[in-house]
Amino acid sequence: MRTMETDYLVVGAGAMGMAFTDTLVAESDAQVVVVDRGSSPGGHWTRAYPFVRLHQPSAYYGVNSQPLGSGALDDAGWNAGLHELAAGDEVRGYFDEVMQKVLLPTGRVSYLPESEYLGDGRIVGPGGDEVAVDVRRRTVDATYLETVVPSMRPPAYGVADGVVCVPPNELPLLAADFDRFVVVGAGKTGVDACLWLLAAGVAPERLRWIMPRDAWLLDRENIQPGPDFLDRFKTSFGARLTSITDAGSVDDLFAQLEANGNLLRLDPAVRPSMYRCATVSRAELDQLRRIEDVIRLGRVERIEPSGIVLTGGTVASAASTLYVDCTADGLEKRPAVDIFDGDRLVLQSVRGCQQVFSAGLIAHLELSGADDAANNALCRPVPHPNTDVDWLAMTLAEHRNELRWLAEPELMDWLATSRLNLLREMFSPMLARPRSRERLLGMVAKALLAANDKLELLLREG
Ligand SMILES: Cc1cc2nc3c(=O)[nH]c(=O)nc-3n(C[C@H](O)[C@H](O)[C@H](O)COP(=O)(O)OP(=O)(O)OC[C@H]3O[C@@H](n4cnc5c(N)ncnc54)[C@H](O)[C@@H]3O)c2cc1C
Repeated sequence: MRTMETDYLVVGAGAMGMAFTDTLVAESDAQVVVVDRGSSPGGHWTRAYPFVRLHQPSAYYGVNSQPLGSGALDDAGWNAGLHELAAGDEVRGYFDEVMQKVLLPTGRVSYLPESEYLGDGRIVGPGGDEVAVDVRRRTVDATYLETVVPSMRPPAYGVADGVVCVPPNELPLLAADFDRFVVVGAGKTGVDACLWLLAAGVAPERLRWIMPRDAWLLDRENIQPGPDFLDRFKTSFGARLTSITDAGSVDDLFAQLEANGNLLRLDPAVRPSMYRCATVSRAELDQLRRIEDVIRLGRVERIEPSGIVLTGGTVASAASTLYVDCTADGLEKRPAVDIFDGDRLVLQSVRGCQQVFSAGLIAHLELSGADDAANNALCRPVPHPNTDVDWLAMTLAEHRNELRWLAEPELMDWLATSRLNLLREMFSPMLARPRSRERLLGMVAKALLAANDKLELLLREG
């Protein structure tokens, strides 16, 4: 058995493991072993469908030390006028380059691909050979939020013989052979599959969308980087805080968030019960609204050659139908556990659905010299949302973290420069004006505290 020694053993070379390692290596002289069962870095991106893209601007994704993309605006397609969204190939190439050209050349990172972590520092390599890693500081679990995409597992419902039901990976290959399409699932992957079909010229009448739950969606325009960020963000963030403090009930809160453009929905007549942080542009939403055959009869139980059996009823289907399974739970809601935990770190989001930013921040705090209790108090996990009410719990948890960060001058400096920090353009002006800084911070803190009181009340009342 081979043995290795290292300061940190990072299990998982997905986006979070990569973002953590990049910040750790950039800000310290630590040695790191990165292990992953996949053959290249990037985690779920290595198994994604060919037309996948980021759904938030490339400007905020990847690792802190290396930009992703050129920072340009798209000038064509349904994201036109907004910041570019890297395609799957680009994301995969980016993570590979970060590993090969940034991390490995430091001489302090060892990368073990195609290797399974068994626990207790034990790893089995591709040829079955075992490696024992002696970890001086911590083992970093970068698998806790592991993303499952449809190509990784069979659908959870039955598919009768003769029915063609495929993950979206096979859609471009098979589309020309079918008259009709059924997209199963209404999350980000389902949205992508519908948009791909519409962009390929498939008439909306040939498309059916199985939507067990409608989702509240984020308007991508509200999170665009660049010179207008601050104004746009101040308006949407200000409106969000006002909606919270003015809300008379949870329903009233969502009505206000929709009225001021913070949240969008597909069908104005259907009240969404799901929130999964998916973003759309207004043009994409207009396209999705062209699909009229939306089935809201719960989850699919099985697909027969003649139709679809759902928890709430059965619908007939034409013979030449391609079913596209988009039901994997890419952002499963996992219980919050301590991030800093003795000889291990468990990477989780510390701002809603901002996993790579969170991983970089956790690496930075790890190097601060503070003890686990202090670091855990500074950044508590913000679990992935699932239901509409989870929007409130997520917002409350991230406000609480932001309030703690506002009280840490060194951390504020870091937040103002971290490229993965969606809000960095908000932090820099606060720091650039030291004389008005305390006043500005005080105003933000007061507004967050008032919103938090109201969120707690609304959550208690249900
Ligand atoms: C379609 C899609 C689009 C997205 N777009 C965005 C976006 O625009 N912006 C954004 O911020 N987020 C986006 N996300 C979310 C984001 O990419 C992910 O949630 C997150 O970053 C996941 O990374 P991860 O490292 O936690 O998990 P994963 O990518 O799942 O990585 C975990 C890794 O751990 C490895 N592993 C697990 N167990 C073991 C073991 N025992 N031994 C060895 N290796 C192991 C796996 O092989 C895998 O490589 C998107 C997600 C999806 C699905």
